[in-house]
This record gives sequence, structure tokens and C-alpha cells, in this order.
Amino acid sequence: MKSISKSILNKEAGLPLIISGPCSAETEKQVIATSHALKATGYVDILRAGIWKPRTRPGSFEGVGTKGLPWLQKAKELTGLPVAVEVATARQVEDVLHFGMDVVWIGARTTANPFSVQEVANALKGVDIPVLVKNPTNPDIDLWMGAVERLSNAGLQHLGLIHRGFSSCNAGEYRNAPMWQLAMEMKSKNPEMIMLNDPSHISGKRNGLAQIMRKAIDLSFDGFIIESHIDPENAWSDADQQVTPKMLKDLLDAVKAQTIVCRFGGYSSEDFLIQQINQLEDELRIINNKRNGAVTQLKVKSDIHDGKVPGRR
Ligand code: PEP
Ligand code: MN
Repeated sequence: MKSISKSILNKEAGLPLIISGPCSAETEKQVIATSHALKATGYVDILRAGIWKPRTRPGSFEGVGTKGLPWLQKAKELTGLPVAVEVATARQVEDVLHFGMDVVWIGARTTANPFSVQEVANALKGVDIPVLVKNPTNPDIDLWMGAVERLSNAGLQHLGLIHRGFSSCNAGEYRNAPMWQLAMEMKSKNPEMIMLNDPSHISGKRNGLAQIMRKAIDLSFDGFIIESHIDPENAWSDADQQVTPKMLKDLLDAVKAQTIVCRFGGYSSEDFLIQQINQLEDELRIINNKRNGAVTQLKVKSDIHDGKVPGRR
């Protein structure tokens, strides 16, 4: 697998790479105002915004589409920051290249679909652009590796990884279960690639980001992709998890204080096992709570049936 050196993603060793911006570009004004405020934090390296939104259910806001790309172009001109967008089809790749975007990423739902990844890889053939690959929605390392291989086989040399958590019926407090050991395993298979953490999609709640970021720093992640919005409460998508640029600055001040020196130096099999045991213990706790809830419900129902609860039945 090729190195990402000389790419825009290759920051000075020891400093986390920060990508931030709205879940979705909504209006030109929102994109420009958010971008200016993010630049002013002094932390952001790359701006992000979703232009086409792959929503789980139809009827939600599905992105402004191509007309949002000139807004990002303008944000780039005004702030001097490079811009990143998600692509899922050949047509989107064409538009993104036409409007001079600097980085693309493959979303979790797309990584899970080899036909789509291959389509994007074919459309990017011969283009020298960094590509970040989010983990697939399901906890399947091979699928994640497969996406990386398809892009690498298409000649893309600047690849990076994003850990955004996994769908699970035992996600507990998280929107997507982190399953840290899978990110660590993926990183150890691709030691030359940067691994970013996406606490926004793992947590699903803005007040859950700090704890996830601390853990990611402990595990020597190379940076973060964090959703931010000038007015998060009124965001058109993912309103619960976006932070203001001011909140982002506070989060990153804390990261700085935590000091980010040790990079991924490779993990031992004990490290994987410890993370796996932590994950399984979390899942056991959640399953046990669910079981106790079901037992209580059953007990209430059988008491009603036996006439032990007066006034019911
Ligand atoms: C996003 O980054 O806006 C996004 C849609 O994330 P994911 O693919 O991780 O769900
Ligand atoms: Mn989002």
C-alpha cells in the first residue's frame, strides 16, 4: 500500500490533523460564516461539508447537491483552507473535480458497497487527490480493506482512514459503537496511512465528543474529523452532534493539553485483546440491562395475568 507522504494529509509528526465543517452545506451564508469561524480557531487544517447526503430514511434532507460546490470553492478562497467532500458516485467525482475540491472521502454506507467503491475508484483513476475511507457501517475489517484496495488498485496514492463507529443493536450510549479494537486492527494492517477519528458520528451527541476524543488521543489516532456548524441546533442534518466553532476550539484546547505525542507505533496482540475485552464487557452490560428489563416486563405481565395487580385485567 502506498504512503500518504507529500500529501495534504501529512501533517507534522505529533500534531493531530483537524478536518471540520458542517454535516451538510445548507446555504452559502452558513458555509462561509462557519468556515471563517473555523479558520479563526487556529486549529482547522481542512474544511469539510456534505453536498450529497446518504440518509438512512427517505424524506430527510438529502443535501443541496452540485450547487453547493461553488460555496465551498469560495470558502477555500476566503480562508485559504483546503476543502473535503464526500463522494459516492462517478458523477459526484466528476463535479467535485470540476470545482477543484482538494480531498474526498468515502462515507460509511458507500464503503459497505463494493460496486459503489469500484465506481468511485474508476472515476478517480489517474487523479492525484487524497481519499479518506470511512469504516463500513457494519463491523467488517475485510470490507474496509477491500475499499482501500480498490482505490489503491486504481492508482490512488494518498489514502487515509476514518473511524466513525459501527452500527450495532448494542451501541449503548453511542450512535455508532466505537469498537476501538477494529480501528486499531485496521491501522496495524495499514501502518503508513493516517487514521482519523470521527467522534461526531460515534457519539451522535455534542456533549459526548470530549470523552471519545480523549480515548482516541490515548490510542494515538492521527487526527479528527468533527462536524461543526455556526448554528448547530438549527442544522438541517445531524443537529444533535454538531458543535459551534467555539465549542470545537474548547475541545481542541483540551486535546492540546492532553498532549499528542505518541503516534501509532504498532499494537501488540495484548492491546487488541484488552480493547476487545472492554468492548465485550460494554456489550454484556447493555445486554444484561436489556434482559433485566424484559424479565421485569414479563413479571409485571404474569402478575397481571394472575390477578396480583388490582384494577388491571
Ligand atoms: C458524514 O460524514 O456526514 C457522514 C454521512 O458520515 P458517515 O458516512 O460516517 O455516516
Ligand atoms: Mn453527519
